[in-house]
Amino acid sequence: MLSFDVLIIGAGPGGYVCAFRAAQLGLKVALVDKRPALGGTCLNVGCIPSKALLHATEHYAWVQHHAAESGIKLGSVEIDVAALLMKKDSVVAKLTGGIAQLAKARKIAVFTGTASFTGPKTVRITSAVGTADDVTATNIVIATGSAPVELPFLNFDGKTIVSSDDAIAFPSVPKNLVVVGGGAIGLELGSVWARLGSDVTVVEFLPKIVAAYDDDIVRNFTRLLQKQGLKIETGAKVTGFANGVLTAERDGKPLEFAADKILVAVGRRPYTDELNLAIAGVELDAQKRIRVDAHLRTTAAGIWAVGDVVAGPMLAHKAEEDGVAVAEWIAGKAGHIDWNLVPAIVYTDPEVASVGLGEDAAKLRGIAVNVGKFNFAANGRALAADAADGFVKLIADAKTDRLLGAQILGHGAGELISEVVAHMSYGGSAEDLARTIHAHPTMGEAVKEAALAVSKCALHTM
Ligand SMILES: Cc1cc2nc3c(=O)[nH]c(=O)nc-3n(C[C@H](O)[C@H](O)[C@H](O)COP(=O)(O)OP(=O)(O)OC[C@H]3O[C@@H](n4cnc5c(N)ncnc54)[C@H](O)[C@@H]3O)c2cc1C
Repeated sequence: MLSFDVLIIGAGPGGYVCAFRAAQLGLKVALVDKRPALGGTCLNVGCIPSKALLHATEHYAWVQHHAAESGIKLGSVEIDVAALLMKKDSVVAKLTGGIAQLAKARKIAVFTGTASFTGPKTVRITSAVGTADDVTATNIVIATGSAPVELPFLNFDGKTIVSSDDAIAFPSVPKNLVVVGGGAIGLELGSVWARLGSDVTVVEFLPKIVAAYDDDIVRNFTRLLQKQGLKIETGAKVTGFANGVLTAERDGKPLEFAADKILVAVGRRPYTDELNLAIAGVELDAQKRIRVDAHLRTTAAGIWAVGDVVAGPMLAHKAEEDGVAVAEWIAGKAGHIDWNLVPAIVYTDPEVASVGLGEDAAKLRGIAVNVGKFNFAANGRALAADAADGFVKLIADAKTDRLLGAQILGHGAGELISEVVAHMSYGGSAEDLARTIHAHPTMGEAVKEAALAVSKCALHTM
């Protein structure tokens, strides 16, 4: 039996980052994934391929709708879906190959196969051709991630009713695409295919899309997406699909949507299917996530769990931070992670980004806050860059001025949010942020102005 200090099951951002950090700390590490390419959902079918498609199609849409007003005259512009997908695949291959190289350089033993517990500290790894390796380790980290949720009356068939795994690789532009679920994944992939000419309808059960965001952000975001041609149907409960028509109901009234593809993007479930957890004494919680304590220890001694398979936001950077912290705890170091400061981003155009507490949530919880808002329409760089839509919103404690959260709707919001996260990490106040010098002209000046607006001192607004 092969023996290691740490065996990590799952090579997504939670698992591979944990492996890298553990190896850095001098531990003998093994990393296993059933996918031949490392990087998990994120690199293979998630964050990276979706962003490659979003990036290219954003340019395509800009060229079609905005180039002329900037004095750029082009002849006809065409999309070559095969080339687009090839470019996306090449980005994925470069990154997954890079992870493999880094793992090799760090002397991590990489196994390709499905891992199953055979005892409290033993795991069998079975390859696709049926060969098996038995492995034992002092510490085992479960990082098996998540899988798309299927609706009982909309089973994935990989052709018409699909998950995001298929929607990042449609071989041609669907005529009518219905996206079930108005969260990040549905809106990003809906945007991609809408930009390429698909008639896209987003059907959301809740009264608003991206439900975790404040109402004012969602109202403006919805309007901007609608302007781009996305149809958004909220408060609509999907009931079935037959003969190319998706049926739903709102307030008891029937709705029908023509669909030649249906992307079901209603969330992801923690994935523990083949692990045989019971034999290791690892318990699940009521939501079928691996139950962990505040140090990501499972109910079995020496077994840890990180990323999408445990409670918390299902995001790659959260999984990475979990992975780093666990590697450090295993090595006897003081790992640290603040789960209140995990930013979330929807990479549409404009983007929406958030961290910490929103204004609506603060009100619901009875927390007195001051809110500072600043519109990109009053930011020089935003105007020059054709990115005047949206605003920055900062939420600060009314008594102490400590920053409690931020929500940003705007081009590059996902980059801008990091500054607020950094200030919040150090317990910064709105005034700290307002007194930080921001280069001119940058979109970031809108963050500074919003910080000034918390105490009603914004300079470039009435
Ligand atoms: C379309 C899409 C877009 C996304 N975009 C973003 C984004 O922009 N930003 C963001 O932060 N997040 C995004 N996410 C979410 C992100 O991909 C996940 O949060 C992240 O991948 C979770 O990392 P993880 O390490 O926990 O698990 P995963 O990345 O899911 O990796 C788990 C790995 O474990 C392997 N595995 C499972 N069971 C076994 C077993 N028994 N034996 C061996 N291997 C096993 C799987 O093959 C998989 O490779 C997106 C997801 C999707 C689907």
